[in-house]
Amino acid sequence: MRNLLFVISGPSGVGKGTLVDRLLERDDRLIESVSCTTRSPRPGEVDGREYFFLSREEFLARMQRGEFLEADEHFGNFYGTPFPFVKEQLKEKSVILEIDVVGGANCKKLFPEKTILILIAPPSKEELCARLVGRDKTTVEAASYRLSRAEYELGQRDSYDYVVVNDDLERATEELLSIIEKEINKD
Ligand code: ADP
Ligand code: 5GP
Repeated sequence: MRNLLFVISGPSGVGKGTLVDRLLERDDRLIESVSCTTRSPRPGEVDGREYFFLSREEFLARMQRGEFLEADEHFGNFYGTPFPFVKEQLKEKSVILEIDVVGGANCKKLFPEKTILILIAPPSKEELCARLVGRDKTTVEAASYRLSRAEYELGQRDSYDYVVVNDDLERATEELLSIIEKEINKD
């Protein structure tokens, strides 16, 4: 059995968080890395659960101390994967990183043997827009920047090991679980 880094990427609103929660419930060989960010919490988000919410100063100080496996800026905010946590967890478990395509590519460069890149794609652009607007209780206009970024993310599908369409939640969950099973058991 291999302990791996499963990178789950895809556009904002595609359902990454929802799918990852289901994977964690069903496979106890998995643990999720909690990223740090400088963005503000959304309603219902809890510090240390969805993210560690840091000030810009604190984030930059940690970055300078080399505490992130990778870090990037999205929508004017910083996001980073805590290196010490991931290293420690990999001794016992496979770690899920819910990070963007650039972060995923950086992990693959650092740990080519351990990193499995999975892109979550929406069934259609209209459905992605509906999920984003539904979740954030916002307008199509306010979501438009995240939607334009989606084009870029989905355009990177060739650099991914797997693409899973999040059409039906249960079907997509099963597909992800079978990918994980197969990769963990590879020699
Ligand atoms: P992400 O983490 O990719 O930004 P979320 O997991 O927050 O996306 O999902 C965005 C919204 O879409 C949420 O309201 C979630 O309940 C909904 N959602 C996720 N997957 C599906 C699906 N397969 N069908 C319908 N709605 C979904
Ligand atoms: P959101 O603000 O919607 O939670 O996330 C915005 C984007 O940041 C998403 O594409 C998400 O995958 C990405 N992201 C979240 N955490 C990290 C991280 O630690 N590193 C990188 N590179 N991207 C991240």
